Amino acid sequence: MTDYQPASRVTRIRESASVMAAARVRELKAEGRSIIDLTVGEPDFDTPEHVKLAAIAAINAGQTKYTSVTGTPELQSAILRHVEKRTGIAYGPGEVTIAGGAKQVIYTAFMASLDSGDEVIVPAPYWVSYPDMVLANDGTPVIVPCGDEVGFKLTPRALAEAITPATKWLILNTPSNPTGVVYSRAELEALATVLAEHPQVHVLTDEIYDAIYFGEGRITSLVAAAPQLRDRVLVVNGVSKAYAMTGWRLGYAVGPAKLVASINKLQSQISSCPSSISQAAAAAALTGDQTFVAECVEAYRGRRDAAVAGLNAVAGLSCLSPEGAFYAYVKCEGAIGKTTPGGATIATDQDFVLYLLDAASVAVIPGSAYGLGPYFRISFATSLETITAGVEAIDKAVRALN
Ligand code: PLP
Repeated sequence: MTDYQPASRVTRIRESASVMAAARVRELKAEGRSIIDLTVGEPDFDTPEHVKLAAIAAINAGQTKYTSVTGTPELQSAILRHVEKRTGIAYGPGEVTIAGGAKQVIYTAFMASLDSGDEVIVPAPYWVSYPDMVLANDGTPVIVPCGDEVGFKLTPRALAEAITPATKWLILNTPSNPTGVVYSRAELEALATVLAEHPQVHVLTDEIYDAIYFGEGRITSLVAAAPQLRDRVLVVNGVSKAYAMTGWRLGYAVGPAKLVASINKLQSQISSCPSSISQAAAAAALTGDQTFVAECVEAYRGRRDAAVAGLNAVAGLSCLSPEGAFYAYVKCEGAIGKTTPGGATIATDQDFVLYLLDAASVAVIPGSAYGLGPYFRISFATSLETITAGVEAIDKAVRALN
């Protein structure tokens, strides 16, 4: 019998670093270790009560069957109204797609559009999944390093230099995972000026963290800053982060009808539709009282301030204050080249992260997973006590280095 041989699309990609980090923390906890977990990529709050009740009501009303690929009429109109409120742009029913999470929307968008040789510009640091999703769908990720000297943001110049005739997509993520940076309207307009010269380039703007913003008002979506690009922008969002609904698996996107039709055609073969119950819950989340979101943002703000102040006080570490999402991206250049009490040299951020886990029982994710080192990502989607304990333990571990 011949052994199973994975398809090349599987061997081309890595498993998600954040999913693996979460699994490692679970393993260590199962072994009885007490771990200060700062890897978490999901809100620590419970899904709001009115959302849960809407799901229960859907079950009791028998809404337990397949829906249309594009979702129930209630969810469709909830998404369209929500997107219009947030971006100021009105989309129609033929311009919306839904899936089991924003992750699936992005994957299917690439599946629907990439052929071998097509390039996708991915500014680094990036959300771990983008390059692998591109690779799994035969595309070529073109990584553009965007260090702290440019505020972790893609500049118009770097964009212009990265574009080739083979460029199919640019990925933007605002607010960003892992840095929490948010593109201003002016920055988006400047990128749009470059894009105007390259009509073959589409933009996937991942705005899954748009509700978690610490500035005034709202973040600016690319389609709001550059409505002239609307026919080549896919705006991705979902209910996971804003409404603490990661396990419900419901994401959506709006964009040009032709692209959306291709995505929906694939979805009809991949999943038929996301869970009807999650659709009812998502519709309730998008249309219901938004107080929950505002309360979460205030909690994240307090934790962010504590995390940023604490980490910047640690010798050799530094981080910018994130404007959105619930992550800080911490530079650990000062720890590189140092020696641990056990005599090991810290050569990379990966070494530093392993040292923190061993010596301080603090779990964070190395910047190398996000394509830009030497950094690590901490999440503040956890209690203030955990953050404070984590920062203290990191400080102690750093002081023990020689
Ligand atoms: N995009 C970014 C930047 C994320 O950080 C995540 C989740 O971690 C996702 C998309 C996926 O979200 P969903 O739960 O909707 O699949």
